[in-house]
Amino acid sequence: MSHLTRRGLVAASAALALARADAVLGLEIDRRAGLDPFALGVASGDPSLDGFVLWTRLSADGAPLDAPSVPVSYEVAEDAAFARIVRKGRRAASPSLAHAVHVEIAGLRPGRPYWYRFHALGAVSPVGRTATAPRQASRARIAATSCQHFELGWFTAYRDLVAAAPDLVVQLGDYIYENSYAQFPKVRAFDGPEPTDLEGYRRRHALYKSDPDLREAHRLLPWAVTWDDHEVENDYADLANLKALEEPVFARRRQAAYQAYFEHMPVRPSLWARPDAPRLYRRLAWGDLVGLPILDGRQYRSAQACNAPRQAGNRPRRDCVELDAPDRTMLGAAQETWLADGLKRETARWTLLAQQTPIAPIQTPEGVMSDQWDGYPAARRRLIGALTQPAVRNPVTLGGDIHAFLVADLHATPERPETPVVATELVTTCLAASHAPRARYGEARARNPHLRFADIERSGYLLLDAQPDRLEIDLRAVSDQADPNGKTASLARFVVEDRRPGVQSA
Ligand code: FE
Ligand code: CA
Repeated sequence: MSHLTRRGLVAASAALALARADAVLGLEIDRRAGLDPFALGVASGDPSLDGFVLWTRLSADGAPLDAPSVPVSYEVAEDAAFARIVRKGRRAASPSLAHAVHVEIAGLRPGRPYWYRFHALGAVSPVGRTATAPRQASRARIAATSCQHFELGWFTAYRDLVAAAPDLVVQLGDYIYENSYAQFPKVRAFDGPEPTDLEGYRRRHALYKSDPDLREAHRLLPWAVTWDDHEVENDYADLANLKALEEPVFARRRQAAYQAYFEHMPVRPSLWARPDAPRLYRRLAWGDLVGLPILDGRQYRSAQACNAPRQAGNRPRRDCVELDAPDRTMLGAAQETWLADGLKRETARWTLLAQQTPIAPIQTPEGVMSDQWDGYPAARRRLIGALTQPAVRNPVTLGGDIHAFLVADLHATPERPETPVVATELVTTCLAASHAPRARYGEARARNPHLRFADIERSGYLLLDAQPDRLEIDLRAVSDQADPNGKTASLARFVVEDRRPGVQSA
């Protein structure tokens, strides 16, 4: 053994350990039984000029893999046939992360497609397609989705989305739902109770990845994701929660939900270096055309106003003095500062601010809803201030959450329509979920003249085409989310012109 260098010895024993991992675990038995380790699919995300993150999670046909660490190798190629492989390497898929694998790739060429695949347990994954962001762009196509309830609708809108071939899919939260809604008809059922622990959330995420339309959209397109409330629990705000549980108790549930989220999403592992305080806010860009700050409106926010202590809940509010407290926050001080500082130096033609909940004031017959930015008016004024700094040429906000398409003018002082229109708000409806009560939003446009369009009945997604002189907006609606062959078509189209906030008819 003395002829072996220390480095050689380490390498040799690592190789031996990896070989043993395959052999000792009886995993060949899994393979002989025809179990697919890549049943949860592959995904990519957060494209930069020179790379992206690749994701997969090993499973036994979707069930957790009963195995210690498993070696996984990856390949990235410039062509779909893998004739020109430009990166390859190896990772260990560890049971401590549910055998999920995240690989951050760097050093590639900007603005071109790449193909990738994984190898593990004698199997090869489906081939994924992704892309690096361009250095300059004259066009960017971006799809925005939110709110996909597995039980309440088929995810057929993704077929139309994949056919539209966007450069990027932005998921604005409620990627999973933790809860069932007994009052609405189901097209299929969850495979277990509401998750409250790590095992439960992993199972729920794995169930989502069993949906072929969702899996295919991940395989073929790079995504940029952020969460809203249902990734943990409906309406939670920091540690305020639906049952008003003690903070340390809910903190454990939230931690489990956050971990499972990261395990199943193509998010860069550098963002969750601190699992107790994962960071999801970040900025992507598509050349000098689109700047895309992505916000986390849940982890740091003040509890909804005028609720009991620790009590989360979206309530109609009127005459709630606490609502206007200047220290109430949606983003937390650190994220607010990060956003304002970044936008001070914005260089993109279009700033698409990706976040969760509606920003424009929406008066309902019972007041404003306390979970939206209406419940955080001081924070909303600060947000509008950050968005209207001189460097931001064309501010446009993207949101979801309320299961309705909304297109709104955002005013300099949002509650005062006599102040100038300074930004454009685009809210995408649910991809598949229940719709808002007609009593609450049915007359939304009549009550709120700055809402330029509202549809509270359809499911679908938002398709944007950014060009230097215009942003084209297509609201894509599904014919019937209960139809497994539902068709998706344009419901309405708008345009935002360069340096002219607010939509025009297309
Ligand atoms: Fe939702
Ligand atoms: Ca929500």
